[in-house]
Amino acid sequence: MSSTNSPSKPFDIAIVGGGISGLTLAIALLQHGIPLTIYEAAPHFGEIGAGVAFGPNAALAMKLISSKIHAAFNSCKTTNQWSSKHRTWFTVRVGDARKADKDGFVKEGTKVGDALFDVEFGRDTDSGGVYRAHFLDELVKEIPDGVAKFGKRLDTISPVEDGSGDVVCHFADGTSARHSAVIGCDGIKSRTREWLLGKEDPAARAVFSGKYAYRGLIPMDKAVEMLGEEVAKNSQMFFGYHGHLLTFPIEKGNTMNVVAFNSCEHWDNPQWVISTTKEEMNAEYAAWGPHVQKIIRAMQKPDIWALFYHPPCSTYYKGRVCLLGDAAHATTPHHGAGAGMCIEDVLILSTLMKEAKSVGDLERCFKAYDEVRRPRSQRNVTGSKEAGMLYDFELEGDDLDRVEKNFTSRMRWIWDIDLEEEIERAKKIYQGGSAK
Ligand code: FAD
Repeated sequence: MSSTNSPSKPFDIAIVGGGISGLTLAIALLQHGIPLTIYEAAPHFGEIGAGVAFGPNAALAMKLISSKIHAAFNSCKTTNQWSSKHRTWFTVRVGDARKADKDGFVKEGTKVGDALFDVEFGRDTDSGGVYRAHFLDELVKEIPDGVAKFGKRLDTISPVEDGSGDVVCHFADGTSARHSAVIGCDGIKSRTREWLLGKEDPAARAVFSGKYAYRGLIPMDKAVEMLGEEVAKNSQMFFGYHGHLLTFPIEKGNTMNVVAFNSCEHWDNPQWVISTTKEEMNAEYAAWGPHVQKIIRAMQKPDIWALFYHPPCSTYYKGRVCLLGDAAHATTPHHGAGAGMCIEDVLILSTLMKEAKSVGDLERCFKAYDEVRRPRSQRNVTGSKEAGMLYDFELEGDDLDRVEKNFTSRMRWIWDIDLEEEIERAKKIYQGGSAK
């Protein structure tokens, strides 16, 4: 762990949750001399062993926040392995053999598994995929000793009634902590969100998206043997009926990350990750083409991840309590932009908090952050759900021309955002606005 800058601001912050959001926020605030404590429910920081991809907007946000975060990303990131594919987000193919005619064609000249089109980043980009656990380890190195407290599961929050505006976090272990403000980075099952919106608000909790996923990692040697170099070493999406499968390289090209999606109407199980058997998983993709079948058969752990998201809420802050990252806008992963939105949140909020001179300025920071970040991050949530339907032939049907037209234009507003303009907009609101 690194050493801390000497704090200088006359307020101190509780960050609840030490995932990608909580850690990047902590690094950003510490560099502006803002004292803080991270309260993490788990006994230590940790991420799952899977890949996560960051688009150009996220990479730029990291660069603008801190050279340390950008360096952490660069040290772990992997791009498509062929230089001719460096600007490609995904190459799209039909994976589902039920789309094929009797000769195997999905459209004129193209068979199941053939490349249909590439979705390209419009500009040169340093986007890429990382192995989540490695990226988190790199971020943790930048958190000074003593800043994080573990085994601290937030239960509820209460304002202090002494006119200070301070807030108290109450933890499940019976302890509590008083701070000038609380930023909830506690993810999709956020307690901060539930407290802030009120339990009766239908947006307080995540709802099932109608999709679930299998996640897997395949050693690249094996992937190349099964699929050939081009498919294994560069990002792919295979579309189908009520499901799709995607792959991208991580760990400097040594591993192929896989996520396979499928649909079901309801999710009644209180657990969001459940085990199934390899046989049942294989059976779900039995009608798909050879690429998808080979990938599915090579996946070791047949866990099913139910995909939930947050319905849009009316605010990201109340008084001196604020939501950031998945706690504010948990999304399905179909735009591959959920974590990128978390990083953008950090950029805007930390820049505003750098401006704050007294504790009385914090609410104005939250207000400006809410105004700038809520529309964009919630648009991602709705758009991502729609994208899942597009890939699963539920939005444009299986009309591949319409699918292509939709897909090749739907990501621009996410990737091409002018973040410096967003910062200026937020600062203007901060300078001019009163808080609620
Ligand atoms: P989390 O990672 O959930 O972290 C929350 C932290 O808070 C955890 O450490 C948790 O232990 C802690 N916590 C929870 N409750 C409490 C409490 N009460 N008290 C104290 N601590 C608490 N995004 C992308 O940009 N690109 C992708 O390729 C991508 N792929 C995805 C694939 C899948 C299948 C899924 C489901 C999501 C994907 N996402 C992707 C989204 C991305 O994973 C999330 O947006 C991101 O990880 C959220 O980070 P976070 O720190 O906000 O929340």
